[in-house]
Amino acid sequence: MTSYCRDGFTFVPIINAELITTDLHKAAEALKQNNIIALPTETVYGLAGNAFEPEAIEKIFSLKKRPFYNPLIVHIKSAEYMTHIAKDIPEIAFRVAMEFWPGPLTLVLNKKSIVPDIITAGKDTVAVRMPNHPVTLELLNSLDFPLAAPSANPFGSISPTTAAHVARYFGEDLEVVLDGGECLKGIESTIIGFEGEQAVLYRLGSISAEDLEHVVGKLKHHTSDDSAPAAPGMLSRHYAPSTETFLTQDVNEMVLSHPDKKIGLLLFQENSISQNVAHTEVLSKEGDLNEAARNLYAAMHRLDHLNLDIIIAEKLPEEELGKSINDRLKRAVKK
Ligand code: AMP
Ligand code: MG
Repeated sequence: MTSYCRDGFTFVPIINAELITTDLHKAAEALKQNNIIALPTETVYGLAGNAFEPEAIEKIFSLKKRPFYNPLIVHIKSAEYMTHIAKDIPEIAFRVAMEFWPGPLTLVLNKKSIVPDIITAGKDTVAVRMPNHPVTLELLNSLDFPLAAPSANPFGSISPTTAAHVARYFGEDLEVVLDGGECLKGIESTIIGFEGEQAVLYRLGSISAEDLEHVVGKLKHHTSDDSAPAAPGMLSRHYAPSTETFLTQDVNEMVLSHPDKKIGLLLFQENSISQNVAHTEVLSKEGDLNEAARNLYAAMHRLDHLNLDIIIAEKLPEEELGKSINDRLKRAVKK
């Protein structure tokens, strides 16, 4: 018998009724067999495997259809564990870890040889973070290895923030999707590296540049290059719905210039635009940027399943998490 799980206002058929689970023992056993599972973090759901086992890591790349040049983040159980997998760690890295971990900040550090090259795409640096989700922290504490875990979506598509999103993508390919509820942050971690004691911003994310700069001083900005991206989240097209998407400051004008289209709107705050629009998603009625980040991907998933002709997204204020959300929206726009 097919069972269903709820995903917003739609239902996703689940072939394996036991797929979505809270059974940590089952998850740990699968990981010890070099299988991969999906798990919750505070940012988005991840596809996780034993970070020390290339066989498990290959399965992640192949399921996601992720190019091998895109390295993965290693999730660790404590700040102290950093020293198992990284070396020459600058003092400032310990300082930000103390300040933001567990939390949505990823540090790019020089790797130790215990970290397989497949994780780092051959680079001599490794990206690490300690996630802030009780389920995944408990799982990590029960294991004697860290977990490589990129977002649990096919490469380039919208990131998952519920177990149902993961089931929709990979329901037939996974045995375990650990359910930890809705992700509370909702967009990926902020990634920084270091040049000596200078922090370098690689990817905007759940921690704003402003909050980081209170701790690390002025950030240097890493320049992106699609041909050899330092971080896949920096590719110019990523996080994308399959529906054609536009990003604009003037939603009204964009709606008027598409009179014959079935339009879905992705708005920041309360709106007055209802004419000629099939469906509207509001990210935060009160205009709260944290709430908007938390709701972003679920709203994009819902819009993408409504058979719309186009999605028109409203640009957010270029401050705090607004910058991170705009970064994701820019990459969601088809070129
Ligand atoms: P995600 O697939 O959303 O988990 O993204 C993982 C992010 O970590 C990607 O943007 C990676 O490129 C980035 N990353 C992992 N390892 C490194 C590294 N050694 N240097 C720079 N970025 C990295
Ligand atoms: Mg991703």
